Amino acid sequence: MTVGRNLVDGFGRRITYLRLSITDRCDLRCTYCMPERMTFLPRKEVLDLEELYALARGFMDRGVRKIRLTGGEPLVRRDAIDLVRALGRHVGDGLDELTMTTNGTQLATHAAALRDAGVARINVSLDTLDRETFRTLSRRDALPQVLEGIAAAKAAGIAVKINTVALKGVNEHEIPSLVEWAHGEGHGITLIETMPLGVVDEDRIDRFLPLSRVRRELEQRWTLKPSDHRTGGPSRYVRVEETRGLLGLITPLTENFCAGCNRIRVTTTGQLFPCLGGGERVDLRAALRSEKPRENLEAALDEAMAIKPERHHFRIGVGEAPALDRHMSMTGG
Ligand code: SAM
Ligand code: SF4
Repeated sequence: MTVGRNLVDGFGRRITYLRLSITDRCDLRCTYCMPERMTFLPRKEVLDLEELYALARGFMDRGVRKIRLTGGEPLVRRDAIDLVRALGRHVGDGLDELTMTTNGTQLATHAAALRDAGVARINVSLDTLDRETFRTLSRRDALPQVLEGIAAAKAAGIAVKINTVALKGVNEHEIPSLVEWAHGEGHGITLIETMPLGVVDEDRIDRFLPLSRVRRELEQRWTLKPSDHRTGGPSRYVRVEETRGLLGLITPLTENFCAGCNRIRVTTTGQLFPCLGGGERVDLRAALRSEKPRENLEAALDEAMAIKPERHHFRIGVGEAPALDRHMSMTGG
């Protein structure tokens, strides 16, 4: 029983969803996410498999029902599937869902193992269907590999949702064809605005594309019917009548969605960020590596609930420094 010990923050929001970053490393270098010469963490800083599992169990004991593994690229971590198997045993018994956000490059190899371990749905990030744009955007020529990975996940019976960051002058013109492709393949698709996280090699203001504008353009082409589909997250969904698929829109900068927030994030070094857009943090690794890991983890989780802010404070503007000095690959998407 978790009643009474559930994670509830100072604004009465119950936290049931953990996003756990299991590596900061990645085999791509998406320009909006990290610089070309990204410095990764020394391995001893990163939680090992046992620590990640103990952490996840600690959250489940406090009422977390859904865990999303992310990164960096979760599937580049060598023991990622071992962790998925260990956590997958709790699906249906403690966990409602175990899922993952991946760039898809390693999915062809791992799709069947993920499904067998209890992963029924995944998010795959894909910003373009054009090989050259993919190469420029991710600094790697990996589009065929990613498409093969998505096909393998579908063949394994895993429901795929595509995540697409909308980028002015990069994939803007391609958004309708991406939506059409995703829906044609039977996948949902969610569009995301770029967020000012960490220093990258380009100026974000040049790339920022408000989804309100994208939505208006899509409405010229299609009938978008509001959908009551909800995930407890920031996505608002519409159904595209013509393509008969779900389209999600995540608009952190043009709309605030914090009131219903049910989630927290933990980095690969065990730093708990109660808000993706805030600087507050609690060190769970110190708790896990202490003399009394269970008690100290409990106390750290209580502290996190006490400091979770009411809302994020992202802004994007000309000449502004990034809102936060950490990259998305650290806190996970
Ligand atoms: N490597 C995996 C992937 O790409 O799906 C998981 C981690 S990645 C950080 C998670 C998501 O964050 C991806 O969909 C990515 O496009 C998105 N992302 C990264 N940096 C972002 C930024 N600055 N603004 C908005 N989304 C971002
Ligand atoms: Fe890697 Fe994902 Fe960041 Fe792209 S968005 S560089 S795939 S972590």
